[in-house]
Amino acid sequence: MEYKRIYLSPPHMSGNEQMYVNEAFKTNWIAPLGPNVKALEEGFANYAGTKGALAVSSGTAAIHLALQVLGVTTGDTVFCSSLTFIASANPIVYQGAEPVFIDSEPDTWNMSARALERALEDARKKQKIPKVVILVHLFGQSAKMDEIMNICRKYKVALIEDAAESLGSTYKGKQTGSFGDIGIYSMNGNKIITTSGGGMLVSNQGGFLDKALYLSTQARDPAIHYQHSSIGYNYRLSNILAGIGRAQLEVLDERVKARREIFDRYKKSLESIPGITFMPELKDTMGNRWLTALTIDDKVTGVRNLDVINALEAGNIESRPVWKPLHLQPIFKDAAIFTESDDKNISNMLFEQGLCLPSGSGMTLEDQERVVAIVKEVLEPSKING
Ligand SMILES: *Cc1c(COP(=O)(O)O)cnc(C)c1O
Repeated sequence: MEYKRIYLSPPHMSGNEQMYVNEAFKTNWIAPLGPNVKALEEGFANYAGTKGALAVSSGTAAIHLALQVLGVTTGDTVFCSSLTFIASANPIVYQGAEPVFIDSEPDTWNMSARALERALEDARKKQKIPKVVILVHLFGQSAKMDEIMNICRKYKVALIEDAAESLGSTYKGKQTGSFGDIGIYSMNGNKIITTSGGGMLVSNQGGFLDKALYLSTQARDPAIHYQHSSIGYNYRLSNILAGIGRAQLEVLDERVKARREIFDRYKKSLESIPGITFMPELKDTMGNRWLTALTIDDKVTGVRNLDVINALEAGNIESRPVWKPLHLQPIFKDAAIFTESDDKNISNMLFEQGLCLPSGSGMTLEDQERVVAIVKEVLEPSKING
């Protein structure tokens, strides 16, 4: 029997999306902006607890705008988490700046404060302090904000939080994305909520968002005719897509709850297997568990993450390794990397051993049992057969 495919993180509609989309049609708010965009921005600012929010066409566009607002330009350096999706770093290159990658630490899999400090010390000596640090909250796990922010303050470097994967996650009770000078979220189809494609900037500095708004709408100067004194972009979110987002934001907390339950069930079913370690959750943080991630130590298990991925694929189930660190990407082969310590590269280890399991909030218990059964079969064949 052919089972239906289980995807890693498919869209999960609430049922109310079409109501807002229909409203846009009825009132002919098809063109950019309109009431859905405004409501979605207010909703995000309110949720994140920031002064404002700006809706744009993607998370990547949001990072690009954030870098420009913070003045990143040709010849600058920008520090960026290495263990992340390439969209975290591509906008650095759009700006003609140079990325320097920072390794992870074991407690959160996110940017190592030790590696960051060493990188900044090195930059200080070379008189090449970066303009910005881009910090990623991987798979919905908050980074160590106190440590990272203290270091950024000490060296007077601006902070962009790439919270594309961590919408709904908190650090000491505050939303990830709301700590940095600018935070960004993604509403791409695979994220915890989606507008089919979209992004958001949040900030407590209204001036940053005003500047981002200006740049995202072709940098039009205030005049009745079309006048421009800088180069802008066409990066705003459409009012139709924002309608989808409004309904999605209403169920965000339910989606977080569902993903956390999925994580807990995986953990309960699999954690007793020797050599398996689930992504930790830092004390005083609450992650959205966007993807359930774990490591498989093949010296203990005798099988590798790719063996599990292949077995799941044979069962028509999508799974993935964790992100390939950016310092290992061919396009960034010449970029610098600062590791956790001289003999420890944590992101390399996580890439070699890491596995992301299907984690969609619409996943049924039966779906999850199918995944667990195959993972167990690969990792503990003797228990199943014997
Ligand atoms: C998805 C993602 C992005 C990019 O968001 P898009 O909306 O797809 O452009 C950026 N950073 C991280 C960490 C992501 O996971």
